[in-house]
Amino acid sequence: TATERLPERAAVIDLDAIRHNVRHLVALAAPARLMAVVKADAYGHGVLPVARAALEAGAEWLGVAHISEALALRAAAIPVPVLAWLNTTDSDFAAAIAADIDLGCSGWELPLIALAAQQQQKTARIHLKIDTGLGRNGSTPTEWAELVARARQAEASGSVTVVGIFSHLAVADEPDRVETDEQVAAFTTAVAVAQEAGLSPMVRHLANSAGTLSRPDTHFDLVRAGLAIYGLSPFANQTSNDLGLRPAMTLRTLVSVCKDVPAGQGVSYGLNYRTTAPTTLALIPLGYADGIPRIATGGPVRVNGVTYPVVGRIAMDQMVIDLGEAALVASGSSVIGAEAVLFGPGDDDASVDEWAAAASTINYEVVTRISPRVPRVYR
Ligand code: PLP
Repeated sequence: TATERLPERAAVIDLDAIRHNVRHLVALAAPARLMAVVKADAYGHGVLPVARAALEAGAEWLGVAHISEALALRAAAIPVPVLAWLNTTDSDFAAAIAADIDLGCSGWELPLIALAAQQQQKTARIHLKIDTGLGRNGSTPTEWAELVARARQAEASGSVTVVGIFSHLAVADEPDRVETDEQVAAFTTAVAVAQEAGLSPMVRHLANSAGTLSRPDTHFDLVRAGLAIYGLSPFANQTSNDLGLRPAMTLRTLVSVCKDVPAGQGVSYGLNYRTTAPTTLALIPLGYADGIPRIATGGPVRVNGVTYPVVGRIAMDQMVIDLGEAALVASGSSVIGAEAVLFGPGDDDASVDEWAAAASTINYEVVTRISPRVPRVYR
């Protein structure tokens, strides 16, 4: 079967699911266009296969945090507009400009970008960022008019062209919060200030996945969706299924050891878990070096159609589930070699959200931290 040909530990990525999710988001966002956010190795899913699938399905832009991530897309001959939005004074603006990468600009970057562009006699493509409330990067509203004036001058000198104006939402995962209304209003004002000063940016963009899915008033000309293209929900009270999304990643391995133990058997470092009756334990060869959070004891693992919680501490390479059946092995029913699924898209599979709950974190972090030690396999 196909399962037998998989690596013994694998994050299986369903590119059809990525394409489905992108088509769904493209339709929801229209007439706004879709930027597929593929930073952090496409949230752990593998940047090049995901980027190509997203573009096939109708995404027209790609978004990343770092210039190095954008350069990797260009090195793979991906030609579409790519925006890199998180810079430092050490960022290689010259390489970005040479590779026609769009650059986010909070203000301080402008002279560095303009200088790098002049040195290679090119015009740098920039997106001015306004902080409409998140309190991270972007110009403050107070400094915005001055940034706009400086950008206007740089445009006049031919060193930059202002392709976009953008901002990032803080609470769109809670669709009723008034702060999103305030961010939309602040963004609209910033765009008007820029237009009055003579800038004519092609694209205004504000929405993340949550805004794309729940707030059409945040769509403007372009939406930047990450989480939802991977089929995961940004909302606490709505599942992927509720949103018409298909989770793209399945994390699976094979049961490595299965053995009958007596009552009182301690399990894993610290012996924090002890069996209360004769039972059967199964060893799952994934651990925190694979990116499974160490605190996620209790996280679900499905073996032979049944979901069991992880017991005892998660170790670097392995974790244990208690099958709760005495003398399973002695009766001839060892599960050694059975497939063990931590999360996947199936109705029977546990979800990334359940692992996130077990680890007191969010679904974003669970998939993003699956380590390079786990091969990504595409189907
Ligand atoms: N835009 C910016 C500036 C981001 O930093 C991110 C990710 O954090 C996104 C868009 C995509 O967000 P999400 O994955 O919630 O769609």
